[in-house]
Amino acid sequence: MARHEVNYLKNSGIPIALTTIDSLLNWGRSNSLWPLTYGLACCAIEMMAAGGSRFDFDRFGTIFRASPRQSDVMIIAGTVTKKHAEFTRRLYDQMPEPKWVISMGSCANTGGMFNTYATVQGVDRIIPVDIYLPGCAPRPETLQYALMVLQKKIRKQKAFKKTPPKRLV
Ligand code: SF4
Repeated sequence: MARHEVNYLKNSGIPIALTTIDSLLNWGRSNSLWPLTYGLACCAIEMMAAGGSRFDFDRFGTIFRASPRQSDVMIIAGTVTKKHAEFTRRLYDQMPEPKWVISMGSCANTGGMFNTYATVQGVDRIIPVDIYLPGCAPRPETLQYALMVLQKKIRKQKAFKKTPPKRLV
């Protein structure tokens, strides 16, 4: 019977991949970001378009969830009113750690054109934000880019390091 022997040293090296636990965990986390389905105003239309077949978030492992308990990314898409701020904070608190926030559009970033008594002048006053995405409204491509920037950020993190609470404005 023929014997097939592989000479690893002669042919393309030893078939072992060396990596760190950090890299492995962060690779998994960054490639399975599940955003909370959470649109607040017109920016949410662009967010929905990003999830559609043309832009196809699924290929990044990014699948929108309907529950904060299954989500690790909150995309604030639209104007946050003071009436709604309490619910936004509660949903953020219900998400398991580790979790990240993308603020999508000028309204979420700064209140946008709504410099009024009823509008939160930046969602970072109630929850910590990781990525600010400018524009009114940002296109789905830019939301995809923001997600890729977030993936890069996650891959650089220490998986087991206790991070201090993120600062609010
Ligand atoms: S930034 Fe522009 S598109 Fe987005 S919620 Fe505000 S007004 Fe609407």
